[in-house]
Amino acid sequence: MTDRTTRSEALFERARAVTPGGVNSPVRAFNAVGGTPRFIASGQGAWLTDVDGNRYVDLVCSWGALLLGHAHPEVQAAIAAAVSRGTSYGTPTEPEVELAEEIVRRTPVDKVRFVSSGTEATMSAIRLARGFTGRDVVVKFAGCYHGHVDSLLAAAGSGLATFALPGTPGVPASSTALTLVLPYNDREEVAAAFAEHGDRIACVITEAAPGNMGVVSPLPGFNAYLAETCTAHGALFISDEVMTGFRASRLGQWGLDGASEGWKPDLMTFGKVMGGGLPAAAFGGRADVMAHLAPEGPVYQAGTLSGNPVATTAGLATLKLATDEVYDRISLVAETIRTAAGKALTEAGVPHVVQSAGTMFSVFFTDEQVLDFAAASSQDTAAFAAFFHAMLDRGVHLPPSAYEAWFVSSAHDDRAVQAVLDALPAAAAAAAATRKAG
Ligand SMILES: *Cc1c(COP(=O)(O)O)cnc(C)c1O
Repeated sequence: MTDRTTRSEALFERARAVTPGGVNSPVRAFNAVGGTPRFIASGQGAWLTDVDGNRYVDLVCSWGALLLGHAHPEVQAAIAAAVSRGTSYGTPTEPEVELAEEIVRRTPVDKVRFVSSGTEATMSAIRLARGFTGRDVVVKFAGCYHGHVDSLLAAAGSGLATFALPGTPGVPASSTALTLVLPYNDREEVAAAFAEHGDRIACVITEAAPGNMGVVSPLPGFNAYLAETCTAHGALFISDEVMTGFRASRLGQWGLDGASEGWKPDLMTFGKVMGGGLPAAAFGGRADVMAHLAPEGPVYQAGTLSGNPVATTAGLATLKLATDEVYDRISLVAETIRTAAGKALTEAGVPHVVQSAGTMFSVFFTDEQVLDFAAASSQDTAAFAAFFHAMLDRGVHLPPSAYEAWFVSSAHDDRAVQAVLDALPAAAAAAAATRKAG
């Protein structure tokens, strides 16, 4: 340790003077792990370089968006060509049509509408579900994150199937008064909620496989149960694949359950990978439901930069390059890293559980399988913080929170993977040391 201020520290100080917490999205601030976030100057393939010239293997990948790694040459060329034709016209464009066609080909949705963020996608999907069904109540699951939509920033109410409380100041109680928050993977609670409120429920929204409390897979048949229950009660099933879409598998999480089990969500939301590193997201679904959206139908929804030609070009280039070989590589890298992380933590005597959903995975610093948010919350976050910083010191940038998925890309070559494997034993020892210190 030196007393010299790093450029990241200097920038963080300047940032905090002009931006709350110094960041434009809270998790970036390192609040959960302490220390100074690294200000990144560039990315190439699997690697990040910070403003002090330190290099890191990136296990964040822009929170999953960068399926092909940083600055993929073909994606970059497509973006550069699009920019050279102008950046936004406020009219329909060809790339939007091509990206929509690609998404319709690769997912069970009939029609799709573009927006600029995952938050807008879920917000709009819920509005559409309410408009279509003429009902008001929304069911969500504790620990599932759907962006910062008022009605979805809800904490569980006090009892079985009671309406939720705002999860943050600034959200009026009236905004969450129509939201039911249930424990994830719990069919009985879903059944109870429908028994009591079934004729008022517009939709159930769930992460297709939760990745925002760490990675928790749906129990076998859970998503199918949600789809069936919604259908039986005239509600819509919204599968939020903003994180898992084009990431958990070529067909997202739906490719891991719905495709083989033979059900489809009524609506789906996408983001992250489909934007190729630029702001683009989407919601889509059944043709008869999507027909309720303006200008075809009465439910209003719009966006100045929606379907932006540069963003949709980046997304299209990414999806076109996302071949089976890309998913095979990501799968192999994910398996290698999660196996090695588990082994290092076992050898250091640190309680942990490694969980995955397709190519997504995370490590929980707890000792029992995690099926819901209550179990995820039992983690030893101090052990994670020590582990995180030991990895960072050794040139591996993990997500700075114990509640996040780790992401790899097809650009994670053997050298990048080896750098991660080399760092793991010392990081596991650092985590173990926090436990002995008590
Ligand atoms: C990231 C995410 C969102 C929100 O997307 P933003 O683009 O950050 O608004 C919504 N749902 C899920 C499942 C996500 O992972």
